[in-house]
Amino acid sequence: MRDLPSLQALIQQLRHIPYVASKQVYRVALYLLTAPEERSVKLLDAITQARQAVTPCELCGNWAERAVRCTVCSDPKRDESLLCVVEQWPDLYAIERLGEYRGRYHVLGGVLSPLEGVGPDQLRIAGLVSRLAIEPVREVIFAINPTPEGEATMGYIRTKMPSSGIVFSRLASGMPTGSHLAYLDRTTIHRALAGRQLL
Ligand SMILES: [Zn+2]
Repeated sequence: MRDLPSLQALIQQLRHIPYVASKQVYRVALYLLTAPEERSVKLLDAITQARQAVTPCELCGNWAERAVRCTVCSDPKRDESLLCVVEQWPDLYAIERLGEYRGRYHVLGGVLSPLEGVGPDQLRIAGLVSRLAIEPVREVIFAINPTPEGEATMGYIRTKMPSSGIVFSRLASGMPTGSHLAYLDRTTIHRALAGRQLL
């Protein structure tokens, strides 16, 4: 593709996007080159806007738009006694979309993965511990995905938690091993949340 250096550069950039299978980058590049110009301008504009306006909530790590805190943390009607711990924003969004959970969240930013260089300091674990010391939380719900890294992360977090006064639970075992919340259907998420088990 040396005769098409600009296209080659575009494909190189697309390859950096996780979740896009390597063969699909050519299709995406084709779309970007042939879509009406207005569309690609709008896409570039939307990326720039979102990067400028959307930042992590200082308290829970959820996304916030032009604010220090997200809409969940700043909503006085949310139940302060329930705290749902998730790995990443898509997991939070999957639960939030159900519209039945009224507690708050804490987004870890991933799971412990020594091989990939992710230790406790790379996650929002210290922030979680300090929240539990000052907020009136009665139940911490681990909505961590059932993977070996997820299990290890949950185990580690529990060793850092206060030993009394707070109940710990996890999503019901209906979640298939290795699955991710963000890809599950609403009914499965509803069942996993409603049937959560105490630890
Ligand atoms: Zn928040």
